[in-house]
Amino acid sequence: MSAPPTAPQKAPQNTPWTATALTLFPEMFPGTLGQSLAGKALANGTWALETIDIRDHAHDKHRTVDATPAGGGAGMVMRVDVLARAIDAALATLPADRPVIYLSPRGPRFAQAFARELVAGPGAIFVCGRFEGVDERIFQARPVTELSLGDFVLSGGELAAMAVIDACVRLLPGVMGDAASHADESFEHGLLEYPHYTRPQSFEGHDIPAVLNGGHHKQIGAWRKAAAEEITRNRRPDLWAAYQTRPTKGLES
Ligand code: SAH
Repeated sequence: MSAPPTAPQKAPQNTPWTATALTLFPEMFPGTLGQSLAGKALANGTWALETIDIRDHAHDKHRTVDATPAGGGAGMVMRVDVLARAIDAALATLPADRPVIYLSPRGPRFAQAFARELVAGPGAIFVCGRFEGVDERIFQARPVTELSLGDFVLSGGELAAMAVIDACVRLLPGVMGDAASHADESFEHGLLEYPHYTRPQSFEGHDIPAVLNGGHHKQIGAWRKAAAEEITRNRRPDLWAAYQTRPTKGLES
């Protein structure tokens, strides 16, 4: 029997943008990331999500991952040896060359520009802390950088990791229906977004601003730009100051 003609060999599929979460609670994933836009994109392979149970990398029969802090004090600290093994396992998975990010209130604050940087790469490995955090030596022993969600303290890094992953995934090509829909969003031009309106035309005496009904795109653009500038100036002096030093200003830039 002759062999059936073989189809030309397909080039190997590119590995999608991949998030790997190192956690003591792998069952928390995908959580919110399994729903809506991120969930659909996860199901269709636009991105991939893996979890590594840090406890699987403990080396005693009690699967210990934490210990009391050197010098005394409250709480427990995640052990550097166990964490290093878990990170090594993550670094050995594909795609290669992914940054290792420890979610931590001490890190630089997460921002849209960093989400853009992350989606331009192959993905990221997220270390989710618990207890008082991790043994400081992990930062010397492995290429780990810190990233904060904001100036507050969560009880674990999982929610923070999910927030960062969500912000990245919605920027991946094909995840949002209309590619233009995040071009005008808050932070993309150094401004907060202008207000939105939809039906009904009038609600409890409040009307949609007339300019938005005129169909005059130039006027609408000018109104939105002015509204975005006003909101940013009033609410975020820090963004407003940075915006004013930009070479090109406004939603068209
Ligand atoms: N003792 C630490 C807080 C530990 S909270 C401190 O005072 O800095 C436990 C874990 O929650 C941390 O290890 C970290 O992974 C996560 N976490 C808490 N707040 C966070 C934040 N604002 N951003 C990112 N991760 C955070």
